[in-house]
Amino acid sequence: MATCLVWFRNDLRLHDNPALHHALSRADRVIPVYVHAPQEAAPWAPGGAARWWLHHSLQALQRSLQDLGTTLVIRAGDSLETLRTLAAETGAEAVVWNRAFEPVLAERDRRLAAVLQRCGVETRDFNASLLFEPGSVRTASGGPYRVFTPFWRACLRQPLASPPLPTPRTWPGTAATLPSLPVEALALAPQQPWDQGLRDAWRPGETAALERLAAFCRSGLAGYGRQRDFPAETGTSRLSPHLHHGEISPRQVAWTLRQQALGATTAGAYGGAEALLRELGWREFAYHILWDFPFTTEQALNPRFNNFPWQEPPGEPLSRWQSGRTGVPIVDAGMRELWHSGWMHNRVRMISASFLTKNCRVAWRHGARWFWDTLVDADLANNSMGWQWVAGSGADAAPYFRIFNPVTQGEKFDPEGAYVRRWLPELASLPKRWIHQPWNAPPEVQHEAGVVVGRHYPAPIVDLRASREQALAAYRRHVREGTGQT
Ligand code: FAD
Repeated sequence: MATCLVWFRNDLRLHDNPALHHALSRADRVIPVYVHAPQEAAPWAPGGAARWWLHHSLQALQRSLQDLGTTLVIRAGDSLETLRTLAAETGAEAVVWNRAFEPVLAERDRRLAAVLQRCGVETRDFNASLLFEPGSVRTASGGPYRVFTPFWRACLRQPLASPPLPTPRTWPGTAATLPSLPVEALALAPQQPWDQGLRDAWRPGETAALERLAAFCRSGLAGYGRQRDFPAETGTSRLSPHLHHGEISPRQVAWTLRQQALGATTAGAYGGAEALLRELGWREFAYHILWDFPFTTEQALNPRFNNFPWQEPPGEPLSRWQSGRTGVPIVDAGMRELWHSGWMHNRVRMISASFLTKNCRVAWRHGARWFWDTLVDADLANNSMGWQWVAGSGADAAPYFRIFNPVTQGEKFDPEGAYVRRWLPELASLPKRWIHQPWNAPPEVQHEAGVVVGRHYPAPIVDLRASREQALAAYRRHVREGTGQT
């Protein structure tokens, strides 16, 4: 093959990149391309925080390609038209890419491949973002799994991780001098400088992703099983935005974890590697669910929930939740961490989502939308599944009657209140006894700590016990009246 276009998408890396590997091993001239077409992902075009990430990730990829002596060609517009034009400009005989599994994008790719092939351009696509192709892990009767544990057991019966493909060290041919946009022209970075928190917290790009994995294996893995639920600790890998943007491949992570497990000298190190691998399994599960039930980005997997009497319009509870002013410290700390850094610890995601959907009875779709716009790791499969799991309407879901109590959750997983104190400095001087329930602190304690509830920090927008009872009553009524029957 003389010339081949490699179409980069959510696979912004050079290591373990099957499409790139294929092109480099077969073509005399390989042209790396990025086409900016967010409208094609509608209604799930990347949100603000993910766009920020993409801006920096594209710059990082550009630099890596320059180091290899080539140039990333960046264009904006309709993907098919852009690729067709580029193929004509360069005389490319083939376009290769790594598959997207989001329903709208997968459909776009199918149409695009058919048209390119009709125009005489060969196309090939590869799986680079998952360990298992969606739809490939099946129950004995051939159907999709709806419960995680048997799904993961079935995964573990298959060969899990082959060695990752190597990073190219050379690039064939000379750099293309084709018209290309600067990354800045894509207007991904904010016009107003609201991104300082993101800059402080993250370093997008493949190099940073690989370094983060290596650092976590060195110093975090052995404690992962023990510490992963404690939001004040840096107990989890924080690989999620890197994985979402494809700066690191799940195969690279799984392979590294397998090596770590084989070489483990302590039970903690072995257990940590297995536990982290299992979390990657949840990501695989989420993509299987999205593949088999593409409507779950908007509708409940369990149809019983489709006409559940959510609070509509969501009004003030939603806006107070979004801005971290619900008066419930662990929820507000999470929402402020999210706003500031574009990320929230998994345990706190569960607590804050439970508070919104159950105590405030705001439909999970509103919360999912907010996360979509504010998370640097916003991922259609993981986010939809995570929200539906908490709301009780999804796969392997927490039953509706299991409602997280944010006070006891806070006391269990943030026992010293360090996480709350970090994100809610106005509560920093409260004794730990009251840090998760400041409204119950005696007035003299509030005065002494310099935080009067209702003045310096809001009183809870709902009574936790009463709102829990109301949510349970609404659910029982829904089922009793038959509206909830499937
Ligand atoms: P680690 O604990 O280090 O796990 C390693 C990797 O495993 C993660 O990077 C992630 O890719 C995967 N993973 C871990 N937990 C889960 C999980 N529960 N479901 C699916 N994959 C998982 N994750 C996203 O990547 N994007 C989202 O948009 C997203 N939205 C969520 C919304 C809600 C309401 C909830 C409850 C969870 C959501 N999650 C989402 C899952 C989880 O919170 C994050 O993946 C995790 O917090 C990322 O941090 P980490 O990389 O340090 O995780």
